[in-house]
Amino acid sequence: MAKIIDGKAIAQYVGGRDDSAVYIRMKVRAGNELPAVTFAHMYRSRLFCLAHPQLLECIRALNDDMDVHGIIVQLPLDSQEEIDEVTITNAVRPEKDVDGFTRYNTGALAQKGELPLLYACTPKGCMHLIESTGIELSGKHAVVIGRSDIVGRPVSYLLTRRNATVTLCHSRTTNLKEEVARADIVVAAVGQPGLVQGDWLKPGAVVIDCGINSIEDSSKKSGFRLVGDVDFASASQVAGHITPVPGGVGPMTVAMLMGNTVAAARHATTVRPWKLRKLK
Ligand code: NAP
Repeated sequence: MAKIIDGKAIAQYVGGRDDSAVYIRMKVRAGNELPAVTFAHMYRSRLFCLAHPQLLECIRALNDDMDVHGIIVQLPLDSQEEIDEVTITNAVRPEKDVDGFTRYNTGALAQKGELPLLYACTPKGCMHLIESTGIELSGKHAVVIGRSDIVGRPVSYLLTRRNATVTLCHSRTTNLKEEVARADIVVAAVGQPGLVQGDWLKPGAVVIDCGINSIEDSSKKSGFRLVGDVDFASASQVAGHITPVPGGVGPMTVAMLMGNTVAAARHATTVRPWKLRKLK
């Protein structure tokens, strides 16, 4: 039976102290309720629902606002008119790109010898969860299923940086089951409920399930429940470690976002400000 990688618990400890995590959560709450309080100002979150071109203007204004340290554009853009996501995503200043999605931060992650200012949250969270198992990554075979810019692809870069041998699979991969069977580490970021079955896995594999899929469940008051991309019941019988859904990658993503926001604020206010380097 696989050990459960408890993302909810690990998220409490990222950044060192569990009391700090609680503190940050309290500040976020306090900041939202008490915007006039100075210490909370840096953690206050604001939500804008705008269409183009106001959206672009708003991002530019937030870029120039010294009191704003992190900007998130919720993707996919939910608008009746067509808005170019690439333009909008890259309008955010890389120093405030706490999602880590801009061309600068994704490009720097992909480029050998460069480092992003801020790392994409879900991929960074996946790495923390993998590391929490104590597995030595160097030389291990990792299979990442999904090649999106926000999860699969950056996870593959992070694993490569840690000297794992990475196979990046997607919807056109013809032998997914065989690829997964060779993996010491499996990261599933697909959006297909229960795609990865227990009998696909190498015994003892570390399985990180990023999927968040809503399926009908008449036994629930809401009429649905959340499941991952991995069939937890069968996979947990074979894997060495596995993340549950919910309670695995999701809380880590939130924790990484908080960490990125605090890092961005620290660099803007107390540490030497980040200087963008021209990528080679
Ligand atoms: P996405 O942009 O839709 O990408 C899905 C990827 O899966 C694509 O690369 C696609 O291949 C591949 N794929 C689809 N069907 C496949 C199949 N049958 N076999 C192999 N590969 C297949 O999704 P995403 O944004 O990366 O999100 C993936 C999942 O993670 C979703 O359930 C999402 O809700 C969840 N998610 C969770 C968090 C979190 O905080 N926990 C954060 C982000 C996303 P092609 O490239 O060929 O189309």
